Amino acid sequence: MLHTAHGYWIAEAGAPDVLPPLDDDIETDVLVVGGGFTGMWSAWHLKQLDPGCRVTLIDSDRIGHGPSGRNGGFVDSLWVSFARLEQIYGTEAALEVAEASEDSVRQIGEFCEAQDVDAWFGHTGYLNVSTNTAQDGAWLENFEAMTRAGVKHEAELLDAQAVAAICDLPRFRGGIRYAAAATVQPARLGFGIRRALENAGVILHENCPVLSVDDGPSGVFAKTANGSIKAERVILATGSSLAGYGSPIRQSTTIASSHMVITEPVPELIEEIGWTGGEAISDCRALLTYFRTTPDGRIAFGWGGGRIAAGGRRHGHAEVDAEVVDQVGRHLVEYFPGLAGRELEYAWGGPIDASATHLPCAVKLPSGRAFAAFGYTGNGVGPSQMLGRSLAASALGIDDRYSSLALVQPASALTRVPPEPFRWIGGTLIREAIGRKESAEAEERQPGMVVSAIANIPRLIGFHIGR
Ligand SMILES: Cc1cc2nc3c(=O)[nH]c(=O)nc-3n(C[C@H](O)[C@H](O)[C@H](O)COP(=O)(O)OP(=O)(O)OC[C@H]3O[C@@H](n4cnc5c(N)ncnc54)[C@H](O)[C@@H]3O)c2cc1C
Repeated sequence: MLHTAHGYWIAEAGAPDVLPPLDDDIETDVLVVGGGFTGMWSAWHLKQLDPGCRVTLIDSDRIGHGPSGRNGGFVDSLWVSFARLEQIYGTEAALEVAEASEDSVRQIGEFCEAQDVDAWFGHTGYLNVSTNTAQDGAWLENFEAMTRAGVKHEAELLDAQAVAAICDLPRFRGGIRYAAAATVQPARLGFGIRRALENAGVILHENCPVLSVDDGPSGVFAKTANGSIKAERVILATGSSLAGYGSPIRQSTTIASSHMVITEPVPELIEEIGWTGGEAISDCRALLTYFRTTPDGRIAFGWGGGRIAAGGRRHGHAEVDAEVVDQVGRHLVEYFPGLAGRELEYAWGGPIDASATHLPCAVKLPSGRAFAAFGYTGNGVGPSQMLGRSLAASALGIDDRYSSLALVQPASALTRVPPEPFRWIGGTLIREAIGRKESAEAEERQPGMVVSAIANIPRLIGFHIGR
């Protein structure tokens, strides 16, 4: 098995030629810092909204090589978080957000079609299934909130038989199916957007960390090692690195991690269990386990139980962590007994920017010239297309559906996580307790009282963990 930072998808897609770093002093209208999905979609929407706008996008590494190019490729809407959205923002605002996020799933497919991007986009739907009695009905609160709000088309309850008709695995019980969901090969999508940006005239630089951003009343001034950028506006789209920028963002996210493995092609096994529709599936753990197939018959399998990064500093553990990947491999065989002894070709991981509300948001920083989106908490592939649109509209001063979504400049964006070192110590303890509780539940054992009490702390202090 190749256990690397960048993983399978980027290797499969084949990275495009490296673009040079900035070695000049330049002026641009909007500077986008970070070339993940948030930054790339922001740049794309800026050009769609105002073709004359000069946009420069700079990445510290290679564009599309961060979590955006190496995630599970689940393109979900925010219907999966409808109850949470409703609790925080009210029914009407929650509906607006969920509907806009549903549109994003469709629009990503349309973008691939129109721009000739072969990102394996498949409108497959998303299944959230129970794999033990403790998980049974975990989706009901969300389903009931959607039903009360009159949403009928979006989610469908499945009993064990209906789940088995989609994917027949011994541990699977009932579940829910969300219709507005797709899968992609994330690196192919990322490199496809990069190409579309080049064609649209966005100036791109790679291997070029932006070292400082000064956003004052007279404009934005950013520095790189060998250059500088004067801009009217800046979009900060640096993902988990935002935890390193100044307040208030730093206080609003915890950096956790998720890790994945991918099998050798096993089309006969996929056929045997009847999982031929390509559905994206996850269980109902708080430390989520998620899986999907590929067109050549592989199973990509991930687990959101990686380590918490102290102070947002990851020291490489978010990307490569043999201990966590061992556990991912064990979970894989627990769910897919037929994979015992089959080869895992790649393993990799990446940081997760987790917000206290478990929902992303877009904010305008006090200067009025800097904008950022963060807090996707493992559901960023679809929502980053929507928030990229919100950031672009906000940066251009356009007042529309996207700049006025409840996730834009919400009071809850500033919900604080505890300061360091308490954030790391507390987060690590809670992660361990949830892991033990969920292992006991997987064996239909009662978790210990202390473990249950610690695992319950987030709920008591108003932090949302899990879908
Ligand atoms: C293993 C894993 C599996 C996941 N699975 C899913 C999934 O199936 N579905 C889903 O919806 N979400 C998933 N996610 C989450 C999803 O990948 C993210 O929410 C999403 O990619 C975030 O995109 P982003 O653009 O905000 O950040 P990123 O992808 O992190 O991009 C940020 C970019 O900023 C650059 N950068 C950082 N600092 C600087 C600087 N100083 N100067 C210039 N550039 C800088 C980085 O190099 C990077 O390219 C997963 C994440 C991981 C790690």
